[in-house]
Amino acid sequence: MACAPGEMLFGRERHTITSRFRWAFFWSFTLFVQAVSVWALGQALPRIGLGPLFVLDFRETGENWHPALRTGFLAVVTLAWSFVYDFSYYWFHRLQHAVPFLWRFHATHHSIEELNGMNCGHHWSEGFLRVPLLLLPLALLVDLRFQEVAIIASIVGAWTQFVHANSTIDFGRLRWLFVSPRFHRVHHSTSSEHFNRNFAGVFPIIDVMFGTGKFPAEGETIEVGLTDKHEPRTIGEFLLVLRDKQETRLTPAPAE
Ligand SMILES: [Zn+2]
Ligand SMILES: [Zn+2]
Repeated sequence: MACAPGEMLFGRERHTITSRFRWAFFWSFTLFVQAVSVWALGQALPRIGLGPLFVLDFRETGENWHPALRTGFLAVVTLAWSFVYDFSYYWFHRLQHAVPFLWRFHATHHSIEELNGMNCGHHWSEGFLRVPLLLLPLALLVDLRFQEVAIIASIVGAWTQFVHANSTIDFGRLRWLFVSPRFHRVHHSTSSEHFNRNFAGVFPIIDVMFGTGKFPAEGETIEVGLTDKHEPRTIGEFLLVLRDKQETRLTPAPAE
């Protein structure tokens, strides 16, 4: 929502208000399922006696340091943790593209035609699927503890929304450091040369490491969406199944 005013004033395309409201509504399903799933995971792990391999407790580290130094230290720790998270997300995301069962649900995210900071929701089932395939392995690997982690992690989390912004923002040389809206737009492209590229959410270097990175050329126009499915317009299409584009051709073309 924070992206919306900037996108409306300076966006690269004109998007409808209706689609923003529709996706805000769809988002609420995914976030609700995710919140319940994460809560259930947090409840279940201690009860079945499973804990993380590493506990990194920085709550008292640098208590006597200058506040700027401590903030800098925690920012570095959070960036390192975010890299581990994005590395895990990268493989979860590749799996979603490689396994047809998972793609059925992830296709909802790719079907979006008016892509922006609000219209970037995922199918509600992803809120659940992320638990066994992404969050559980991470929870069993490392437990990061310090007060500011929620704030800094939220900023990093918000980045993955920002990369969908309806914008021509590019980061120049910094494009190698952080995923930009132009970099992620390639991932949503309808062009076959862009398929299965740019899976990372925050650090493009992960894509470069595994040979899936593609930085768009300057001024390159990238159309987004799916060639065979419409984006969901009704609650039924969002919850159950996307509409095939061919279905819209059932009406015969008028005679010339
Ligand atoms: Zn994807
Ligand atoms: Zn995306």
